[in-house]
Amino acid sequence: MKDNVTVCDVCENEFVIELHVKEYAEGVEETYFRCTHCGEKYTGVVTDPEIRKQQRVIKKMLDKVAKARSTAESKKQFAQIKLAKRSLNKKMKKLRKRFEKSKHLHND
Ligand SMILES: [Zn+2]
Repeated sequence: MKDNVTVCDVCENEFVIELHVKEYAEGVEETYFRCTHCGEKYTGVVTDPEIRKQQRVIKKMLDKVAKARSTAESKKQFAQIKLAKRSLNKKMKKLRKRFEKSKHLHND
């Protein structure tokens, strides 16, 4: 699969992305991968328990849309999902910012 191959910004070598999850205080989880050539670390997503809960809720909402019996019903559900996703994105951005700021406190 060529899908998960990327080029490192630092050493400009191609490498296969292999995702790892690292846990921090307060249930914060960072999904990251490293360049297999120079070891440069790239952060994918940062989540906390609240965000993961919301992700599950959105997944359930999506499952529900698949079962919607009318266009009107699915339209209404899609609008709700859109709102939920927007609020989730905001939370993720905020957490990411906080995470980046406190990065120097963590051992890499
Ligand atoms: Zn590299």
